[in-house]
Amino acid sequence: MHNNLKNLPVGHLTCCQICRGINLQPVIEMGFFSPCDSLLTKAMLHQAEVTYPLNVVRCRDCGLVQLDYAVNPKELFYPEYPYRSGITETLRQNLHNLSTRMIEKTGLAKNSLVVDIGSNDGTILEGFKNNGMRVLGVEPTNIADMANANGIETIKEFFTLDVAKQVKDKYGPATLIAAANVFAHVGDIADLMGGIYELLGDDCLFISESHYQLSILERLQYDSIYHEHLRFYLIKPLMRLFQDSGLTLVDIERIPNYGGSIRVYARKGLNHNPSEEVLKLLKIEEEGGAYQDKTYEEFKMKAENSRRALRSFMVKLNDEGKSVVGIGCPARSATLLQYCGITPDLLPYIAEQSTSLKLGMFTANTHIPVIDEAKMFQEQPEYGLMLSWHYAEPIIKSLRARGLKSKIIVPLPEIKIFE
Ligand SMILES: [Zn+2]
Repeated sequence: MHNNLKNLPVGHLTCCQICRGINLQPVIEMGFFSPCDSLLTKAMLHQAEVTYPLNVVRCRDCGLVQLDYAVNPKELFYPEYPYRSGITETLRQNLHNLSTRMIEKTGLAKNSLVVDIGSNDGTILEGFKNNGMRVLGVEPTNIADMANANGIETIKEFFTLDVAKQVKDKYGPATLIAAANVFAHVGDIADLMGGIYELLGDDCLFISESHYQLSILERLQYDSIYHEHLRFYLIKPLMRLFQDSGLTLVDIERIPNYGGSIRVYARKGLNHNPSEEVLKLLKIEEEGGAYQDKTYEEFKMKAENSRRALRSFMVKLNDEGKSVVGIGCPARSATLLQYCGITPDLLPYIAEQSTSLKLGMFTANTHIPVIDEAKMFQEQPEYGLMLSWHYAEPIIKSLRARGLKSKIIVPLPEIKIFE
C-alpha cells in the first residue's frame, strides 16, 4: 500500500489533517454547536444536548483550511441520518449529470465497476447503472436500505481499507471510484485514501466533489462551516494529499453545487501530469489570496459583521410585529441559526417540502420546529428567511409559481430582500 498519511484522531486536532504541520493560523471561532444534521424529536427538547467546538484553522505549510476538532463520525452519520440526496430536483439533476459527464469524459466501457463512497440513496449510481456499468454503493446510514430496495446494491458500512479489500476480492478492481460530497467529511483520511488506492485499478480514476474554499471566501459562506466538513479544499493541499496517497491530481472543474464546489479528478499512480485547468485555477487561488493570512482575517471580520447585521434585522422585524418564517432546512442552516442566534422568538418555524424526512423535528440547539410548507403557503407570512440561499434563484421562482407572496430575505453574502 502506498500511503504516507497518518490516521486522524477523534477530538481536538493539534496539527494539519493532511501534512501534519503545526504552523496553523486560527481563522474563526464559531462557538460550540450541535452537529448540523442532528435534528431533535419533541421528547429530546427536554434532554441535555451535546455540542462541539467549531473552529476553523489554516495550515500555513500546505494551505489546507480545516476544523480543529473531529467529532466521532458515528455521532455525525448515525443510522437515522435524515439526508437523502435524491430529494431535491436540482440535486438529483446534478447527480445524474455527473454520471453522464463521467462516462463521456473517461470513455468508461460497459460492465466497468463503479463504486460510490457515501452513496446515500444511490442517485449517482442509478445513472451509471442505466448506462450498463456494474455499480456498488457504500453508505453507513439506513439510507443504504432505501438504495438496496431501489435496486442499487449498497454495502451498509463506512468505507475503509478493510471494506475496500473485501470489495476488491468479491468484485475485482474498480474502474472508477466516486465520492461526491463526502470527501471532506471523512475523518480518517489515511484509511480512506488507503482504501481508494487499494480498490482502484492501475491508472484508474477517483473523482470527488467538495465545497470549494475559494467559493466560500468569494461568497462569504460561513454557513458551510459545520462539523461534517472537516476540510475546505484548495488545489495545493489536494495535490499534496493525492501525492501522499499514490495518486495524481489530474483535472479539476468548478461546479455550482452547494454555492460553489469543485469536481476533482485524481488518477492512480504518480506518473501523470495535472491539466492546464489545474494550473490555471491554482494561479487564480494564489492571486486571490487563498494562501495568505490577511484574506482569512478579512473573512472573519466579514462573517462577524454579517452575524450582527442579520440578527439586528431579524430583531427589527420582530419589534415591528412582522411575521417571519424560515424557508428550507439544509444542513448549513444549523450553522447560520446557531451562529447568528436566531431562535423561535425570531423565527417560529421552518417550512420544508412535504417529502422531507425532517418534518416534525426541531433544529438542534435553537429548537425551531420544521413544518410542512403547506402551512406557510396558507399563512402567507410577511417575510421568509431563505436558508437555502445558495439556491435562492430557482427556489424563489418555484415558490412564486406556487403562489407564495411573502418578501424573501436572502441572508448572504449580504442581506437582500426580494419583494
Ligand atoms: Zn498542512
